Amino acid sequence: MQLTLKEYIHSDMKAQDVVKKYLETAKQLNADYFSFVRFHEEYVVAHLDQFASRPLKAAPIGIKDIILTQDYITSCGSKILENYVSPYSATCFLNLEKNGWLMIGKTNMDEFAMWSTTESSYFWKSKNIYGTDRTPGWSSGWSAAAVALWAVIGALGTDTWGSIRQPAAWCGIVGIKPTYGMVSRYGVQSMASSLDQVGVMTQTVDDAEILLKAIAWFDPKDSQSDPRADDFVHDKKNLDEKSVKTFKIGVPKEALWEGLDPQIKKIFLATVEKLRADGIVVDEISLPMLAYSVPMYYTLMPAEVSTNLARFDGIKFGLQSDSMDVDTLQKYYETIRSEWFGEEAKRRILLGTFVLSSANYEWYYLKAQKARKELQTEFDTIFAQYDIILTPTVPEAAWKIGSRTDDPLKIYLADMYTIPANMWGLPAMSLPMGMVEDQWEMMPIWIQLMAQKWSEDKIFGFGKYLEKLLV
Ligand code: GLN
Repeated sequence: MQLTLKEYIHSDMKAQDVVKKYLETAKQLNADYFSFVRFHEEYVVAHLDQFASRPLKAAPIGIKDIILTQDYITSCGSKILENYVSPYSATCFLNLEKNGWLMIGKTNMDEFAMWSTTESSYFWKSKNIYGTDRTPGWSSGWSAAAVALWAVIGALGTDTWGSIRQPAAWCGIVGIKPTYGMVSRYGVQSMASSLDQVGVMTQTVDDAEILLKAIAWFDPKDSQSDPRADDFVHDKKNLDEKSVKTFKIGVPKEALWEGLDPQIKKIFLATVEKLRADGIVVDEISLPMLAYSVPMYYTLMPAEVSTNLARFDGIKFGLQSDSMDVDTLQKYYETIRSEWFGEEAKRRILLGTFVLSSANYEWYYLKAQKARKELQTEFDTIFAQYDIILTPTVPEAAWKIGSRTDDPLKIYLADMYTIPANMWGLPAMSLPMGMVEDQWEMMPIWIQLMAQKWSEDKIFGFGKYLEKLLV
């Protein structure tokens, strides 16, 4: 069954039939693609019965396994939380339920959302629908794969540094990371708290808007949640093509650096020309701090991770052990954390502890914070004149599984285009831009839209227009 949310909502199809059909398909596809870590059939059946008496359309949704769901395991792709059952649910999940949309299962993820190839989960790897020897992308890659496979109508993911936009790009679907503060982080396991945002992945821009409006509400339980989220949910104005065509678009020249695959660059530039031919003003602009985004991220992000993961010690949270032969508490922590955290989590904890240590704090952490401020100033200057910034989403087509695992630095560099939006909390969306031939396979490529904070209307308006222009 290949339904968009919009088609389904406006159809007279019965939720019972649609959800059950999706669940069946998702289970079959999982034998080959491994997008889900768990299915929740009993939850689906119980809720479908409840919804039968309400005028709601229950839609089948995939939930990244970092979003807490009361009474069900949430393991964040980690051995240390393998059996963790949360006593409460995340606000975004409850919001989804209120709209009648159902979790058919939890999608797997890179351990604690770190890494860029769906290869750091304790459980298993996933596969890309466009090439089964390729990865579907970063930590929400399993959710993107599930959407691309039509195993769900949409999925929730988290994006700390691109983990919604990048897998959406590699799987040929739409992914949006909203403004920081738009979706409550309450009940979502933190990776880097000042950068994390929950967002959505769908087949179309319309669907992304519908799904985001279902989860984006002001939530006093998240200190960074913002009442402007409710304005977005209630906003009925749809920026039509006429208003979108008055937008001024900026393309940072730094985005066209030598690391960008030449085929992707060619199609990206052709898209810019198409926009110009359609009467839209597209200027070359400069965002010099883009070049520093990777070092900035890999200083600030591990610092926050090392703090957030401190609670997983086998006592406060995480698997315990009675059988270990240790005589001090220190030894207990060491053994639990060494054995049950994966390699990348350990690398980030070490890096984070290093940059926060008193000898290095000023030299690394403070410097990166200053660079972050500089990037924010650059963005504000640009958005005083421009409505949208366009860049590619990733510099290369989807990688072959295992092809980069030995070179973390090369992997980290691929985060370049997605980092800046998280640094300043901007809304950013990736959508398909075409296909390229890569090692004898046709692979999807993409374009990224960024706008000033709380300008989701511009992102969706321009996204819908681009979606049409690029078919
Ligand atoms: N590639 C990024 C990392 O490894 C992905 C972060 C994210 O958005 N979850 O940290």
